[in-house]
Amino acid sequence: MTEKSSQPLSELTTLHVGGAARELLSPGNTVDLVEATLDTWSRREPWFALGGGSNLLVADEGFDGTVIRVLSRGIDQVDAAGGQTILRVLAGEPWDAVVAHAVEHRLSGIEALSGIPGSAGAAPMQNIGAYGQELSEVLVSVDFLDEASGERVTLPASALELGYRTSSLKRGRRGVVLSLDLHLSESELSAPIAYDQLAAALDVPVGERVPLADVRSAVLGLRASKGMVLDPDDPDSVSAGSFFTNPIVAENFARSLPRDAPRWILDPDAPESDVKLSAAWLIERSGISRGFALPGSRAAVSSKHTLALTNRGGATANDIAELARYIHLQVMNRFGILLQPEPQFVGLTL
Ligand SMILES: Cc1cc2nc3c(=O)[nH]c(=O)nc-3n(C[C@H](O)[C@H](O)[C@H](O)COP(=O)(O)OP(=O)(O)OC[C@H]3O[C@@H](n4cnc5c(N)ncnc54)[C@H](O)[C@@H]3O)c2cc1C
Repeated sequence: MTEKSSQPLSELTTLHVGGAARELLSPGNTVDLVEATLDTWSRREPWFALGGGSNLLVADEGFDGTVIRVLSRGIDQVDAAGGQTILRVLAGEPWDAVVAHAVEHRLSGIEALSGIPGSAGAAPMQNIGAYGQELSEVLVSVDFLDEASGERVTLPASALELGYRTSSLKRGRRGVVLSLDLHLSESELSAPIAYDQLAAALDVPVGERVPLADVRSAVLGLRASKGMVLDPDDPDSVSAGSFFTNPIVAENFARSLPRDAPRWILDPDAPESDVKLSAAWLIERSGISRGFALPGSRAAVSSKHTLALTNRGGATANDIAELARYIHLQVMNRFGILLQPEPQFVGLTL
């Protein structure tokens, strides 16, 4: 059954901003999700899929079209052989419940992705990643309802062109992810720890494997210290996570930056590699500190992390966008770098 409502999207997004959609559909399972989506497409009106609303900035005016909430839940083991397991996860399953399930069932490969809010179905959209792991390392395929063809197809991960916080879905391939197949290793031990800060929290060298539950709890602790887990008692978590991606620039350009600018050479074997920079460092060095707010605004930079923009209570989508524009401009003026927003914008632009 598909419920219809006119609930404001501010109640369904983690930034708590956004007006109502013309129509909000909430199909309860995959069959209804397919039916509601095909029906919406047949009416040729604007639409988008909504998961946990944790990577969205929706305009105060709302959305003049149909929003389809993805609520289908379920995690099934569909194959297991040679120490490997394939989990099939329905799109509306909360991502962190998938990680908790994997850790509980001694399946290794996504433990460092603990605590990322939102739904499994949205995870391929920006190839979620954190603490040295990315979805792309375990994603086999997605069950996809393709708007261009109107067909339900299985897309191998390679067709999604997953990269750093991006995919073909984010770049414009329209449709609804119905489920994901994930390829995990049967082990009580994590994948090798690939992130310095996580290794330090676990007190092990990078490359070490440790019990899955230890990684999960260390990641959750680190994330909580940065306001990066949803917590009703933490005003810094009223955000869309990192608001800007880490910029990737040519090595030649990176040489012109201050020597203490953190940088990661993406292909150490190439004579001139692209280099990833720290957006948080660029923001701080542009004069914007934690907790910064424009005068009279209810939007502020998180008091724990300069990359997260937060709603301090009563902020509008416009307040958030104004703050983002200000940061964008400061970094552009100081370093000549155009930061790219990570969340999807609905009804407004940077
Ligand atoms: C506190 C906090 C911390 C975060 N930390 C991280 C982090 O460490 N790493 C990281 O990568 N991200 C992080 N994020 C961002 C966010 O959690 C992820 O991008 C997440 O995958 C978004 O899922 P969602 O269901 O909330 O998507 P939504 O916000 O509902 O939607 C995001 C986009 O995906 C589309 N979409 C949603 N569901 C589907 C579907 N089934 N099929 C097709 N398209 C769909 C929407 O139309 C929209 O364009 C964080 C966010 C918050 C609030």
